[in-house]
Amino acid sequence: MNILSSLRHKVRKEFNSILSRMLHSGKVRSLSTLLKATISLFALFLSQQSYALNITVSIPPLAGMVAPLLSEDDQLEVVLKPGASPHGFQLKPSHVRLLQNSDLVLWVASPVDSWMQKPLANLGATELNLKGLVDIEELPVRQGGLWEKKNQHIATLSETEHKGTSVDSEEHSHNHEHEFSEASQSQRMDGHLWMSFKNSRLLIEAVSKKLQMLKPNDAENIRQRTQAWLTKLDKTNQQIKQQLLQVQKVPYMVLHDAFQYFEHQYSLNGIGSIQLNPSVSPSLKRVAELRAKVKAGQVSCVFREPQFPEKRVLAVTKGLNVKVGSLDPMGVVSKKFQKETGREFLNYDVFILQLSNQFNDCLSKANNQ
Ligand SMILES: [Zn+2]
Repeated sequence: MNILSSLRHKVRKEFNSILSRMLHSGKVRSLSTLLKATISLFALFLSQQSYALNITVSIPPLAGMVAPLLSEDDQLEVVLKPGASPHGFQLKPSHVRLLQNSDLVLWVASPVDSWMQKPLANLGATELNLKGLVDIEELPVRQGGLWEKKNQHIATLSETEHKGTSVDSEEHSHNHEHEFSEASQSQRMDGHLWMSFKNSRLLIEAVSKKLQMLKPNDAENIRQRTQAWLTKLDKTNQQIKQQLLQVQKVPYMVLHDAFQYFEHQYSLNGIGSIQLNPSVSPSLKRVAELRAKVKAGQVSCVFREPQFPEKRVLAVTKGLNVKVGSLDPMGVVSKKFQKETGREFLNYDVFILQLSNQFNDCLSKANNQ
């Protein structure tokens, strides 16, 4: 729906509702009352000429990318609430209404927020997604959990084929919600696309263009805000490069493989993940394997995540001499932060710098031992 028709629709709806309320309450005593109502509606119409946009995003980091482009009266909503994991999430009817009332919806369009796919298609919503952007950087999903054994277990479209081999049962049940339109995909891509600075820039630029089209009167301001924001992000990128230079070689293990793009960008030394599937606890056999790696001194840091049970990390690290850190791929904000700012997300520069600090905290301690 284009802006003007949606605007007309809004005003007509408002007019009809006021008129019917007046008729029902018997308040239309004279033509002048009706005239007043018409004038106030016309004023409403004019005031909406500087149309405020409703933007909805699937996950918090996307909100953090585009918030600095918006003007004060634009509304920015996040579907996934702070602290929730996108893996296995399901939309409620209220979310569908939110999407319905949005001028623009932003999502990753990967397994991470595949729960957006159907409702968006059904609603015919105006949307932009990371995956669909030209030049987007995509990396293949890393298989097997221990990445130096790359491609040891390549998931195919018919995973059942592997039944009866020596690979443990967890690997066979893995990643079903990590798969997205799998029938059309011969090689699965890592869906955590927002972890790449380059990808984030692409989304910001695409959203900026879209906003300029939706709000032609505000286009120059949007362009300026975009430029300032991208300059700021470039500085943050340089800052992170500097920060992580000293810890590039330190081997670490993550809870689930959400950080490949970040790792790739800053040349970090991730050696594997505890979980193969975000919604399933690792098998005992797997935990034993990982503990052996830690014991052998092949892992200096193990990272947990606030969205997942801590016991999954403890099972691997308990009683062993290894540093434990925390990584937050969603940029969860505290209740206090929400109250003070009215926001459910961190701006992307803060989010990504926080992630860098989290890596650095643990890796630099391990480095100094
Ligand atoms: Zn994930």
